[in-house]
Amino acid sequence: MTQPESPSTHALHDLSVRALTHALVAKQVSAVEVAQHFLDRSQAHTELGAFVDIRTETTLAQARAADARIANGTAGALEGVPIAHKDIFVTRDFVTTAGSRMLKGYRSPFDATVVAKLAAQGVVTLGKLNCDEFAMGSSNENTAICAVGQDHVVPVRNPWNTNRIPGGSSGGSAAAVAARLTPAATGTDTGGSIRQPASFCGITGIKPTYGRASRYGMVAFASSLDQAGPMARSAQDCALLLSAMCGPDPDRDSTSLDVPEEDFTRTLSASIEGLRIGIPEEFFGEGLADDVRTAINGALKEYERLGAKLVPISLPRTELSIPVYYIIAPAEASSNLSRFDGVKFGHRAKNYTDLADMYKKTRAEGFGDEVKRRIMIGAYVLSHGYYDAYYLQAQKIRRMIADDFQSAFKNCDVIAGPVAPTVAWKIGEKSDDPVANYLADIFTLPGSLAGLPGMSIPVGFGEGGMPVGMQLLGNYFQEARLLNTAHRFQQATDWHAHTPEGF
Ligand code: GLN
Repeated sequence: MTQPESPSTHALHDLSVRALTHALVAKQVSAVEVAQHFLDRSQAHTELGAFVDIRTETTLAQARAADARIANGTAGALEGVPIAHKDIFVTRDFVTTAGSRMLKGYRSPFDATVVAKLAAQGVVTLGKLNCDEFAMGSSNENTAICAVGQDHVVPVRNPWNTNRIPGGSSGGSAAAVAARLTPAATGTDTGGSIRQPASFCGITGIKPTYGRASRYGMVAFASSLDQAGPMARSAQDCALLLSAMCGPDPDRDSTSLDVPEEDFTRTLSASIEGLRIGIPEEFFGEGLADDVRTAINGALKEYERLGAKLVPISLPRTELSIPVYYIIAPAEASSNLSRFDGVKFGHRAKNYTDLADMYKKTRAEGFGDEVKRRIMIGAYVLSHGYYDAYYLQAQKIRRMIADDFQSAFKNCDVIAGPVAPTVAWKIGEKSDDPVANYLADIFTLPGSLAGLPGMSIPVGFGEGGMPVGMQLLGNYFQEARLLNTAHRFQQATDWHAHTPEGF
């Protein structure tokens, strides 16, 4: 018989979010003890470079308040559960940098809606997590911020092999969850930044339908694509967190959808007998590494054992998602990032001759190479004469990509495939080659461009013992079905329960 998950049988950092909520309300452990345990772990594992801000007193004060609410019977659904936020969400009590020199040391006067909604359910914040600058990247090598415990800027390390990247842009979130420095974390996904790092670090992550979680207080990268979501060890924990994160925010985010809050845990255990899983042929072509293919095929076999049916489908414009995304995302970024001009907030150059010189020097000093590259591409594709040839064409193909999914969903309920063509690569391997990074986004970009919900679940290990994630994509507002599909797999397998050595 397996022992129940409780503080007496497990180390606190091995407990799921769900088990922690039970232990906390049953007063088997206090929120202060839990918070202190995870704070100690993050301090003991600064070699990963996952955290960029830790404030022990702030966290412990939040934990004391959670204990008080548990004592007086006003506990929220996640009362006392510690989590950490990707440093792209603005926070009043912690610094917000978005991984950029431009915002070094910046303190926001308010909390992002997602942060506030989690806090309203009693979540305790452990700190802020490293990410690629303005969420642009796939490896975390684009961070410009020095992590806690480091003396210079270093990329986040993957706890499964510290010479490898954790993925990006939510790499700090994925590494921290995988190393059990936090039970869960927030992330954001513009073109794959929740799914890909979750895959590379062997954890579970979900990006909801575009518009389901408020973007208010998420430092903007590409507004028509950016979405927040949870990263945790299991689909069950993701469901708990996502239920607290989603919901309309009409006064603060004009693209927030008028779709009511939902309890995503309700249908987690529903049968998946007869579920039709679409297998896009374009996701299994030549570019897919053998180790990833083997792990995915193994998972698909398991789904068949669970009663699902595999249905071949086609997403014929998969390859086009790369040029389309790398036109639209930089276009939106070049516009969003124009606010960083040294006037209102953030970095301002010290020595300048006039206003134009101040703008130039501020932006030259404040932005890193990848961000500059995207601002230039974005300004170019939006400029007179090129707008029709690039931006408008990209928008048209984006619509076709979304339509392809609607045709596919006529024959299937969810779509499954790889998250990335390979496992996590070595630090430095692609750092001089932006295009090599862009190409590795091929399987996450189509779902992003269509605004669909998507997730990554661990399904095995590949080359070098690195984790492999499988992507599940659903139609609009099918988060509950995705989580159910993932949870049934995780009840039958234990890929999500493996721990990297030393953690
Ligand atoms: N890797 C993609 C990019 O560099 C996606 C990033 C993201 O989803 N934030 O833009």
